[in-house]
Amino acid sequence: MRLVIDRSKCRKTGQCAYLHPELFRTDTDGSPIVRVEHPGEELRAAAEEAVELCPSGAIALEE
Ligand code: SF4
Repeated sequence: MRLVIDRSKCRKTGQCAYLHPELFRTDTDGSPIVRVEHPGEELRAAAEEAVELCPSGAIALEE
């Protein structure tokens, strides 16, 4: 599985990095960066939650 952010949709709320710092970090300009591009099964629940909670629907989990 692959965790991706659509930068054209992202509103730079910082929520993903705040809620799941194991998966995301925030760049100096406030843009989120995916820390773990190919999360293992142990991170699936966290990745799915990040997808659900992103206020702009910018995060996707591709199988
Ligand atoms: S939660 Fe969504 S909108 Fe907010 S910084 Fe992360 S990807 Fe962008």
